[in-house]
Amino acid sequence: MKINKPFNQLQKEEYLYFIENHKQYSDFNTLGLYRSLLENEQLTMEDKTEIRDFAHQYFQKTFDFLQLKDPLTYLKVVHLETELTPQEELAFWEIIRENQEEILKDKKIKHRNFGVYAKHNCGYDYCPYNGLMIKQGSNLAESCMFFKSDRNRDEKKNKVKRLAKEQRDFKNKRI
Ligand SMILES: [Zn+2]
Repeated sequence: MKINKPFNQLQKEEYLYFIENHKQYSDFNTLGLYRSLLENEQLTMEDKTEIRDFAHQYFQKTFDFLQLKDPLTYLKVVHLETELTPQEELAFWEIIRENQEEILKDKKIKHRNFGVYAKHNCGYDYCPYNGLMIKQGSNLAESCMFFKSDRNRDEKKNKVKRLAKEQRDFKNKRI
């Protein structure tokens, strides 16, 4: 059987029904289910958290794997009902990084060979996603968000370093 309807157009009762009977539906997509919670405009926040928690009873393992496949969606679904401060978000990315290593170790995926996954590397030293494993081709693989305050801090640090180096060079020249 097929659901034949995008998840983000379902009502709460339909979600619960399809989750409970997911084995009968060949087009049931677990990751799509979780993602749709971020897009579905017919659901209240209460509906969304209820569906999420109900789905976890069936798909916790698959959901955990979302930390590798689509960490940004994972973060948003975990914090559906809460707005994170930048500090909390940074701390959460740390946890995701640790969990990613655990999952990869569990699955015996060697660090040299991540297959479709690659380390986020946008080139900014202050980027909170540095070192995060991202599925290639996903939004986070090439783009990133970072905080202005981090950048300013970084630039200040570099300026101090540069000035110190210039002073050193100047002294060396005089000797
Ligand atoms: Zn970045």
